Amino acid sequence: MGPTQAQLDTCVTCGLCLPHCPTFRLTGDEVASPRGRIVAMAAIATGELPSDETYAGMMSFCLGCRACEAACPSLIPFGLMMEGAREQLAEDQPSFTGRLRRLLVGRLLNVKWLLALATSGIGILQKLRITRFLPRKLRIARGLRPLRVFPHTVVGVHDNTPAEPAGSVALLAGCIMDEWFPAVHDATRGVLQMAGFQVHSPERQQCCGALAAHEGAGDAARRMAKQNTAAFAGYDYIISDAAGCSAHLKEYAEWAEGGESVAGRTKDVTEFVAELIADGRLPRAEKPNGAVAIQDPCHLRHAQRITSAPREIVRAAGYTPVEIDPDGLCCGAAGLYMVYEHETAEQLGEQKVEQIAATGLDTVVTANPGCEIQLRGHLGNGYRVLHPIELYWESLS
Ligand code: SF4
Ligand code: SF4
Repeated sequence: MGPTQAQLDTCVTCGLCLPHCPTFRLTGDEVASPRGRIVAMAAIATGELPSDETYAGMMSFCLGCRACEAACPSLIPFGLMMEGAREQLAEDQPSFTGRLRRLLVGRLLNVKWLLALATSGIGILQKLRITRFLPRKLRIARGLRPLRVFPHTVVGVHDNTPAEPAGSVALLAGCIMDEWFPAVHDATRGVLQMAGFQVHSPERQQCCGALAAHEGAGDAARRMAKQNTAAFAGYDYIISDAAGCSAHLKEYAEWAEGGESVAGRTKDVTEFVAELIADGRLPRAEKPNGAVAIQDPCHLRHAQRITSAPREIVRAAGYTPVEIDPDGLCCGAAGLYMVYEHETAEQLGEQKVEQIAATGLDTVVTANPGCEIQLRGHLGNGYRVLHPIELYWESLS
């Protein structure tokens, strides 16, 4: 538990990561920088500093965006270190709200009927236009539907596969993707089947465990990784259409015995589909459609270093991708961060909206559900925010 000494020793305190860190850029404060956080982690490991509320605040203020990891010449594994530090803090500082957060991401998000019920409740409030009790982002969240008795699910084998499939794909159902973004799953399935793959969504799978790992619920994250490692055995590819989930699946070697097998077969849907387009196994739109703004999710750009794939998909859909942020700063969503560090999340969200508004475009693509919720909440109803795979599927359809 906690970052390992080898991980801590990776940092040579050069400070090259500082200008890439959103919380350092907002505050100019070393304690809100990657280097400051690593120095604090090291001081906790040696016992020089107590694991107290000040330390907890430093760790909590980090977005987990991993921009520092991408900028670091020493290849710091900052994401894993922060997850270790938060797991240690959960032991040292077991606050009520922390417990509640870990219960939510470690247990409740896996209870499909509960999520379906909550979604339906929000959907009813939206239909009745009684939304003032809801957080702003949920008032206009897309895909929330009225009451359903049974949860919507993509689990199972899907039809329309050719007699000789190009390979088998296990699609990660995810926690909120099934309920809140079913159109993204539909587009992913449609595109993969068009390329000749047999698409399954194995029944025994659970939430990938990314949110649990980020919140320091290490035992829950390990349990989910173990179950998914068994559920995904035997498939040629494991595909996720949520960047935060694909990033976490690629790190399963850290979370479950045999998890390296999952890591080796996992691809984010954007990289998989971009390869299929490049190989000529998926088509390109025949005529231009216009332009869309591109927002890079941190867990695609920084954690997986994938930037060209979503742009290639947008081009194949007949659109011109328009850049909004050369630095790829976090939009402020960052899982539950947008709830418990609300003010900072709002500041970062507003910055992103200004960048999008400056393009004059009314359509934005982003490949992660958290970013989509954050952008929708800030942009309002005059904009379309969608996953690049939806844009591509829409164009082909
Ligand atoms: S994390 Fe990397 S870039 Fe940042 S101070 Fe340490 S060695 Fe330098
Ligand atoms: S993960 Fe993001 S917010 Fe946290 S230290 Fe690194 S760059 Fe800063």
